[in-house]
Amino acid sequence: MRILVVEDDQTLNRQLTEALGGAGYVVDRAFDGEEGHFLGDTEPYDAVILDVGLPVMDGISVLERWRREGRVMPVLILTARDRWSDKVAGIDAGADDYVTKPFHVEEVLARVRALIRRAAGHASSEIHCGPLRLDMRASRVTLDGTPLKLTSHEYRLLDYLMHHQDQIVSRTELIEHLYDQDFDRDSNTIEVFVGRLRKKIGIDLIETVRGQGYRMRDAEPGR
Ligand code: CA
Repeated sequence: MRILVVEDDQTLNRQLTEALGGAGYVVDRAFDGEEGHFLGDTEPYDAVILDVGLPVMDGISVLERWRREGRVMPVLILTARDRWSDKVAGIDAGADDYVTKPFHVEEVLARVRALIRRAAGHASSEIHCGPLRLDMRASRVTLDGTPLKLTSHEYRLLDYLMHHQDQIVSRTELIEHLYDQDFDRDSNTIEVFVGRLRKKIGIDLIETVRGQGYRMRDAEPGR
């Protein structure tokens, strides 16, 4: 999952980026509204954390422009304490949730997890596929109850596929959602990671759909 953080406060921006990175997300960062708007307009993010008070273009205007342009990604806004009017303006502009400063990073992480799983149509923070269980809170996957040892790349790939179960996910979509903007995007790497995941999972839950991409599904529904 790929997240955009738009926050002009260097320290906060870094704290959020590090916490999100530690939780297994790929993070792009912007420090003003114009840069943030551009990234959100051109890159496919699974969620955005958007500060309201930003230089060049304020967060509410950024959000209004995205929504006008048809960008539907979940957006969590960061508002200053005692600025209740920012929350109202933000939600009216199309924000999905808000956190008031000062905040605990854990709260932001929990809200981001909730936004992403709701956008993918999941109500709980655990996703199942056959014997696999993804625990979003712990960023962990178990197979028949035993933790799977995954690299961060493998985890991100499996996390994305499990969130989008029963859907065909193209290689391009995977590359766009699993790597940040500076990554050398070689589509062969996806095949390599899918191969490794298949080996670790043992049973074939990741189907190759010829010419289209991959689809994750429970081989034996009802198991
Ligand atoms: Ca600010």
